[in-house]
Formats: sequence, C-alpha cells, structure tokens
Amino acid sequence: MSRSRVLITGGAGFLGSHLCDRFLAEGYEVLCMDNLITGDLRNIEHLVSDANFHFHHQDVTEYIHVAGRLDAVMHFASPASPIDYLELPIQTLKVGSLGTHKALGLAHAKGARFLLASTSECYGDPLVHPQREDYWGNVNPVGPRGVYDEAKRFAEAMTMAYHRFHGVSTRIVRIFNTYGPRMRLNDGRALPAFMSQALRGDPLTVFGDGSQTRSFCYCDDLIDGIWRLLHSDEVLPTNIGNPSEMTILEFARKIIELTGTQSEIVYKDLPQDDPKVRQPDISKAKELLGWEPVVDLDTGLEKTLAYFRERMDLVEAAY
Ligand code: UDP
Repeated sequence: MSRSRVLITGGAGFLGSHLCDRFLAEGYEVLCMDNLITGDLRNIEHLVSDANFHFHHQDVTEYIHVAGRLDAVMHFASPASPIDYLELPIQTLKVGSLGTHKALGLAHAKGARFLLASTSECYGDPLVHPQREDYWGNVNPVGPRGVYDEAKRFAEAMTMAYHRFHGVSTRIVRIFNTYGPRMRLNDGRALPAFMSQALRGDPLTVFGDGSQTRSFCYCDDLIDGIWRLLHSDEVLPTNIGNPSEMTILEFARKIIELTGTQSEIVYKDLPQDDPKVRQPDISKAKELLGWEPVVDLDTGLEKTLAYFRERMDLVEAAY
C-alpha cells in the first residue's frame, strides 16, 4: 500500500504548517502549496529534507494541477489577520471564492475528501453569545472586514454545493482565535502585537477600551480538533476553539505579567466592525468528535513566548 497523500493549501502559513507537521507524523505524503504572500518558508524549513514533503509555490486561485492520487485536500490558504485582509482585499476575496472553487474541483476530480478552513468571522459581530453553529451571523458585507467574512461565507456555500451536487465528501471547520509558535510577529493580531511590544518594552496597543472579548485556543488543540473532524462524518460546519473567554484588556495584562515587561498600556481607536464578543459553543465538537481543548492559557502562552523571544533575537541580530 502506498502512502495516503494530502494537499494543504496555505501550507506555509501559521496553521497550514502545523497541519503539514501533523499529516507527516501520521504517515502521509504532504503536498504543501502556498503563494507566500502571508505564508513564510521559515515555517516549513524543518520539513524540506523529508522525502514525503513537497513544496509548490503557487497561487491557488490559478488552476491547480496535481499528478497522481490525492486522499485529502485541506484548504487553508487565505490572509487571516485583519491588517492583512485590509491590505490584500482582492486577494482575500479571490482565495475564498476562486481558490475554494479550484480546490473543490481538484478534490472532486481526485475523489479526495475536502476540508475548508472557515472562521468565527462568519458570525460577524454576533448577536447570539456564545456562538453555536446554527447561528447565521451578523456580518456587514460592505465594511472593511467584509472581504474576509463574505469570502469565507461564500466558501462555505460553495463547499456545501460541491457536497450536495457533486457528492464530494466535505468538512467545514469554523476556527476561532488561535495562537502559538509561527504566528507572524508583525501580523497585527492581538497576541503577536502584544508580545512583540512587551518584548521590545514598547506600550501595548489596546484598541477601544479593551472590553471586547475573545477566546484563545492553542494551535495544537486546534489541529487535533481538525484532524478528528476530517475523520468524522460531519458535513455541516463545526466550531473548533477554546471557550475560555476574556476581555482584550485582561489579555494585554496577562502578557505584561507573563513577559515581566515594564511596558504600559495605551488605548487606540477600535477598528470598524470589530466584534464586541466572541466565544465558541463547542458542544457539537465535544459530542461528535470527543474533542475539547486541553492546553491551558498559561502553558500555551509560555510556548508561544519562547518562540517569539527566539524570533525577535534573530530579527535583532540581522540589524
Ligand atoms: N487588538 C488590540 N490591539 C492590537 C491588536 C488587536 O486591542 O494591537 C484587539 C482587536 O481590536 C480585537 C482583538 O484585539 O478586538 C482581537 O483582534 P485580532 O486582530 O487578534 O483578531 P480578531 O479576533 O479581531 O479577528
């Protein structure tokens, strides 16, 4: 029997690269595809000597050709942080729409299972709390975040259409805020911003009054949930995230305490349409997948901090 083969789009990104690790560890041959606009080759440099790992520098909105068998397509390509999709609005819309179409077409042609990386952003600025999968969301289609939210909502609709019309075996994960090693230091999200600022001794920039909430999941927990979802029978969207919720101000204080920095907190304008609350209801994942997060925030933050310290030393050494 030859090895199972998986294509991971966005495989050089934060989550994509952790997925590459997991599939290789499970004995798969991994085809990693990325156009590197927000991905980074350093996230996969430890894999290039593995004979079962192959990197393809490609934009997945273009026709995707893969020779030979494919068992799974994991569609993780997309800018994923608010400042990235504000800077790359057209690419964000294209990868969620055209890229999802191409990846689904490939899965259909190969008889492969397809898993879409969707997002809690489908719930927008939610009017239901915590968010269950059957909530349809509160999204502003024409606001600055609409390019990401609507692309992912379209991607979900396209995925369900390929399932219903073409009989493709599909899965949809709605990913909530996730953190861990390999986040880009300058990607603008709360954790990279706060950690980099704390390590430099700069003020931590809390947007608004910091009363908005998020629920942070460590990457290893998320990847395990995705792995289980892929191997389950559940076709409809499934939340994977950590329900432990906190305000952004509490989160900033936590990073100050953890790093032991002398940095203060400064307050900046809240970005437009910034969700006021966010917390996954994970009853479905618990029941169907037997999954729930096991890494507590202190442990996850320590591991992430070790990565950030190492990366920042490298960045500083380069100057
Ligand atoms: N945020 C902040 N300071 C920063 C970056 C983000 O206060 O330097 C806030 C942001 O306004 C949001 C929360 O932190 O309320 C999480 O933002 P992030 O960009 O990490 O992801 P989001 O959950 O909004 O997609």
